[in-house]
Amino acid sequence: LPGSKEKVRVRFAPSPTGQLHVGGARTAIFNWLFARHSQGAFILRIEDTDIERSSEESERGLIEDLEWLGLEWDEGPGMGGGAGPYRQSERLEDYRRKADELVEAGRAYPCFCEEVVLERKRRQAVKEGKSPQYDGACRDLTQDEIKERRRRGVPEVIRFRVGEGEVHFEDCIRSGIELSTAMVGDFVLLRSNGLPTYNFAAAVDDAAMGVTHVLRGEEHLPNTLRQILLYKALRLKHPVFGHLPLILGEDRSKLSKRHGASSIADLKRSGFLPHAVFNYLSLLGWSHSSEKEVLSKEELVGDFSLERVGRSPAIFDMKKMRWMNGVHIRKHSPEEIFREADAFFPSEIKHQYGAEKRLEILALIQEKIETFSEIGNISSVFSPEVHYEEDALKIFSSEKAREVLSKFADEIAADGEELNCDRAKELIKKVGKKTNAKGKDLYFPIRAALTGNVHGPDLTGVIAVKGRDVVMSLLAKALSLE
Ligand code: GLU
Repeated sequence: LPGSKEKVRVRFAPSPTGQLHVGGARTAIFNWLFARHSQGAFILRIEDTDIERSSEESERGLIEDLEWLGLEWDEGPGMGGGAGPYRQSERLEDYRRKADELVEAGRAYPCFCEEVVLERKRRQAVKEGKSPQYDGACRDLTQDEIKERRRRGVPEVIRFRVGEGEVHFEDCIRSGIELSTAMVGDFVLLRSNGLPTYNFAAAVDDAAMGVTHVLRGEEHLPNTLRQILLYKALRLKHPVFGHLPLILGEDRSKLSKRHGASSIADLKRSGFLPHAVFNYLSLLGWSHSSEKEVLSKEELVGDFSLERVGRSPAIFDMKKMRWMNGVHIRKHSPEEIFREADAFFPSEIKHQYGAEKRLEILALIQEKIETFSEIGNISSVFSPEVHYEEDALKIFSSEKAREVLSKFADEIAADGEELNCDRAKELIKKVGKKTNAKGKDLYFPIRAALTGNVHGPDLTGVIAVKGRDVVMSLLAKALSLE
């Protein structure tokens, strides 16, 4: 914040109830970029108070995905920090204390309504076209009524007394926002099992952890209203809120699997580079000052600003993300991406070729792929087993083509050396001279014989990878076909 000396502290606060999806990752990325740009702290907080839905497996997955994206946190699980613990299940005392404080001050009250009754009332309200808010049945119980219910052992929750009025706040992305408390009913702070609800725990923790900015999706606006009410009741200063624009599918409907908006783990499995995903997601609602789109991490950190976060929905476009991934793949040397790409070679290729040859193959196909998952298909031309396409077979019936193939075999035999790209090029040239074949007439028969196809990666590269023996036997095989 210009003019402010307060150090920026932001957090990403996932609930470990599933996988990290593109929306959550975008939120994490914006918070991370804002922290790095302002030399502030990026905190990871695990919001695991929904015991039925939270799992350690999901937490592990989230952490793995964040690490894969390169979103290292300054404070959080595995990192420590002065504001811990960073797992809400380890902070239950705090919520209990704050809830007691609110009950004491008359801002919250015990509620004994049973879930079945609440559910029935909710349905009835919806049927009558009313908003299904809590009707306040326990809002004004007397001390005696409370005691009596406790004596009967009726399960109790703590509810916040919302009251009437408007809440106004300055959103750092969307400027002034006014929300009416009529949007929300008296909401639960502590459940009957003693565990806090999301809104309560998040507000208590954001205050306790000194969070200066809460950046999250627009769908959280009603939560922001609840949380500001809580800050007021607790007499705490609330952080600056910023609501990121929604992410929609190309048809402008809510983003879902249908739009290819898979989890981060899926993208990893489909052969995306982590930084390409990072780069693409950073543009969902934000743009670089020079409109540049393919950006390094340094460029993103250097240029990031909340002023250029937009308000209109961002559109998730799988095609564009694939395109961007291809651009990032080509920006690297084959060595730099080998480790990630290597996992995608089919076992047949791995079986046939050592790491050095696979690196050679990667260099030959790098220009032609958008994601590593295409490696399986495209690398099949390097297999010593050839399946001839229709177009390829047609070529072998031409006399000229057969002459090219047999001359090529003669040249290789006469040469006696192992084939590399340069050698292959020279020999093909010789064949051209001797047979008087040029261009397609020269290259198509050879390519068809060696790969079974008339298109594919650089021919001399394919020859070098396959090697002399395989090339010789494939030429013989093609010549034996009619
Ligand atoms: N645990 C919440 C969620 O995953 C966090 C929302 C927030 O950023 O406050 O939606």
